[in-house]
Amino acid sequence: MNYKSTRGSNELLRSTEAVLQGLAKDGGLFMPVAPDYSAFDWKKLMPMTAMEMSETVLAFFLDDFDDMKSIVKRAYEGKFDTDELTPVVKVGDRYVLELFHGPTSAFKDVALSVLPVLMSEAKKAVGEERKIMILTATSGDTGKAAMEGFSDVPGIDILVFFPDGGVSTVQKLQMTTQKGENVCATAVRGNFDDAQTGVKVIFSDVAKNGLPEGTNAVLSSANSINIGRLVPQIVYYFKAYAELLKSGAIVSGDLVDYTVPTGNFGDILAGYFAKKLGLPVGTLICASNKNNILTDFLSTGVYDKRRDFHKTVSPSMDILVSSNLERLLYLMADEDENFVADLMKKLSTDGIYTVPADFLAKLKADFACGCTDDAVTEETIKKVYEENGYLIDTHTAVAWNVATEFMAQAEEKRPNVVLATASAYKFPAAVAESIGVEPTDDEFELMERIEKKTGAPIPKNLSGLKAREVRFSDVIDKDAMYEYVVGKINE
Ligand SMILES: *Cc1c(COP(=O)(O)O)cnc(C)c1O
Repeated sequence: MNYKSTRGSNELLRSTEAVLQGLAKDGGLFMPVAPDYSAFDWKKLMPMTAMEMSETVLAFFLDDFDDMKSIVKRAYEGKFDTDELTPVVKVGDRYVLELFHGPTSAFKDVALSVLPVLMSEAKKAVGEERKIMILTATSGDTGKAAMEGFSDVPGIDILVFFPDGGVSTVQKLQMTTQKGENVCATAVRGNFDDAQTGVKVIFSDVAKNGLPEGTNAVLSSANSINIGRLVPQIVYYFKAYAELLKSGAIVSGDLVDYTVPTGNFGDILAGYFAKKLGLPVGTLICASNKNNILTDFLSTGVYDKRRDFHKTVSPSMDILVSSNLERLLYLMADEDENFVADLMKKLSTDGIYTVPADFLAKLKADFACGCTDDAVTEETIKKVYEENGYLIDTHTAVAWNVATEFMAQAEEKRPNVVLATASAYKFPAAVAESIGVEPTDDEFELMERIEKKTGAPIPKNLSGLKAREVRFSDVIDKDAMYEYVVGKINE
């Protein structure tokens, strides 16, 4: 299977090359060319283990990697606290797909455990001998998961940019204390979009002009714009469906709805791919916080980024430009690259684009949407805890509430799977406030108070953070990112 850009340049790459390069030279995202979805037998996955499912889905999309079995094994074995990788639990009238059992307690571990292995294999396969410098902008969770995944992987360095003051204390410490000779985390003055745009600009400049002479490296990305990030996420939609089948909650072929706390649109897009592969997915419900640009888009067809950016208690979803939406536009427009290139141009020059009414109708056939502000997010955490004794984090609470609203008005009653994207302990301040735990500025003390009240155990990777040495403390301006990157490569 070949890969090409969503924006129409003629670059045609193998999957190894697409994973290595990250972003297309024209600024677009890589997409598989004419995949034969009908050749994928989704039912075959149902009795499989999580790792077998992963191997099967990865091998379908990334077909020129040798020995996917060993890649998946190296990625996951011993890294998650359960062999299920992504277990499902029944909570009240719905199902929660727990995506936070990996090494950093957030759902990004599912993909970022695989990507470094894919990249080192791809580097060998295409004979790339230069150092690979991974640049990643993070709203909090990607950064740590990527640093953990790439730590001490030979031939690859990683530099993570996070918004100064835009991540929780725990998230920041997770990054700034990360071990590994080849990792670095740096704060950028600005918000997540500034950091992400900064990284995108560096990629497109370097694609055009190259790195300065004598800089012996290639750049790549670990953000969800990398196709190697997206594909591993498709798997847990199958895993959840299989769990529902096993428990007798559904019979094979029943439609299941999924509610997804959404930021960069990577997670929910993976659900759409699962549907393309034949999985009986009903509606994909896109849940946003107060940064509800996607709610507006999926309701009206107008994507307008000319609006205020809000800092919320669910920071991993504080995003105005959802990169992976571009991939959905491409798929929904029947792979019409000119249509996508035109919209993306409008977005960058005017800050707004509108899709035609028939296009919007197509979107609405697969997607629903909703948003939840901070006050309701916290009420939801409290309600779910009091009614079910189950502790959810702020992002999951956004989705839970949107699912509640969706289920109340849905014509057809179907099982609803809420994707739980982080451990509640990653966002202790908001969680503590929600369930009436006595406040303190010390997030670690808060974690202990929450544990004492709820009995839900603190993940070990988080409780151990406090004692770790801070290794990175640089704060830079967004205009200085390029020079900083070059300096780091040459260090
Ligand atoms: C990244 C993240 C999200 C959003 O996922 P996208 O793929 O960017 O839409 C939601 N919740 C948490 C906890 C995250 O880390």
